[in-house]
Amino acid sequence: MTTALVRQRSLASRIWSHAVDAVFPPRCVSCRTFGRFICDDCLAQMVRAEHPRCGVCWKLSADSRCQHCRHEQPAFTAVRAVYAFGGPARDLIHALKYSGVSAVAPLMGEDMAGLLLHWAPGVSAIVPVPMAGLRQRRRGYNQSELLAREIGRFTAIPVAGRAIVRRAGPSQVEQPDEAARRANVKDAFAAGRGPVGDSVLLVDDTMTTGATLDACARVLKSAGAERVYGLTFAREDLKALANGG
Ligand SMILES: [Zn+2]
Ligand SMILES: [Zn+2]
Repeated sequence: MTTALVRQRSLASRIWSHAVDAVFPPRCVSCRTFGRFICDDCLAQMVRAEHPRCGVCWKLSADSRCQHCRHEQPAFTAVRAVYAFGGPARDLIHALKYSGVSAVAPLMGEDMAGLLLHWAPGVSAIVPVPMAGLRQRRRGYNQSELLAREIGRFTAIPVAGRAIVRRAGPSQVEQPDEAARRANVKDAFAAGRGPVGDSVLLVDDTMTTGATLDACARVLKSAGAERVYGLTFAREDLKALANGG
């Protein structure tokens, strides 16, 4: 494609996006007021996933290492999430995942990049958790990859978009409990293409039990990574899991 054509296209797409904004101005994905994808009031309601949490799996825990992680170290070194799942944070994820509002990815990615820069685990590549091909074709994009690309843009850390591949199978959302989630993802992933590096960051939109991140970390370690960290936009704090460490 010639440069002139690229310029023409980008001008056309800019005009188009201005036209779309004029006809459909952005609305808050949570309270539906016009102006921005998330308004200041809803932003203020979002609860950051802060301490006391397990330093490894980021589960609510009075101890720095929860019972589960003391008993069995997950394949990942440590994971973090920016927000507790719920309210406007959940609405942002649902907009990105189920309503096709990919325009919220930059603001979600910026928050995640902010946490990553503060946390500073020292990673040389960002790997998105892959989706099954059919689901991605239906949606048109993988939300984890969009978030990974935004984090990469803010931090200048390269994104290895094909480091893991996902085999077709039932969705994690359909699984009734933690045991079912762990069994469902156990063999769902395989090593993909490209070098992964010694220290890698996995990115996903939501963490529930950490089973998906654990399964992906296992694959990356078998492909040569020594340390695998995980970062999600939100973490679901299941009551049953929050009790007893
Ligand atoms: Zn709002
Ligand atoms: Zn833990």
